[in-house]
Amino acid sequence: MKNLVFLGAPGAGKGTQAKRISEKYDIPHISTGDILRANIKEGTELGKLAKSYIDKGALVPDEVIIKVMQARLAEDDCKKGYLLDGFPRTIEQAKALDNITTVTLAVNIVVDDDAVVRRIAGRRMCVCGESYHISTHPSDVCDKCGAKLYQRDDDKEETVKSRLDVYAKQTAPLIEYYSDKGVLVDVDGMQDVAEVTKEIIKVIDGNC
Ligand code: AMP
Repeated sequence: MKNLVFLGAPGAGKGTQAKRISEKYDIPHISTGDILRANIKEGTELGKLAKSYIDKGALVPDEVIIKVMQARLAEDDCKKGYLLDGFPRTIEQAKALDNITTVTLAVNIVVDDDAVVRRIAGRRMCVCGESYHISTHPSDVCDKCGAKLYQRDDDKEETVKSRLDVYAKQTAPLIEYYSDKGVLVDVDGMQDVAEVTKEIIKVIDGNC
């Protein structure tokens, strides 16, 4: 069963890889960041609440995000497996997830600290879900849908530092959590995007 969790610092490439891997195995790619950003755009209560945390680079409270994920994981499409990107982000969330379902593999995408800062600073997003880096895609228009690319507010320098601190303090302990459960595999995220994808596929095929 492919019940997958992707771990890694902001900018490690979780979103990019999750998109490719979920397409390959036909399992839903569930990104809590995407869910929250969609709610902000729609102006929902959840969106209003989430925005105040996201803008500071802080985490949305566990009880809020856990409720969102309980509902999402109860949907039919998750019966065939799922790929979680950006959840869990705290030990509390990981424990809540264990009460809902069994994670079969946690893929930890490992990158250097310097790379993380460089990647986030140059990251540009599209409303259609694609993301690019200015070093390999200097145009500000999406190749897939033609929309104008934008920089996420929380990718700006002031917020990135807080996000990295939050990652080190609250999310990095999950590496040990899943390692203790015997489901953690590290993948070298410093390779080309396609190489990282290949390595992840190998790891999934060997473990699930
Ligand atoms: P991401 O797109 O995964 O980088 O998430 C963007 C922001 O959304 C994070 O910096 C948090 O503020 C918030 N967020 C996303 N996922 C979670 C989560 N599992 N728990 C708490 N906050 C989250």
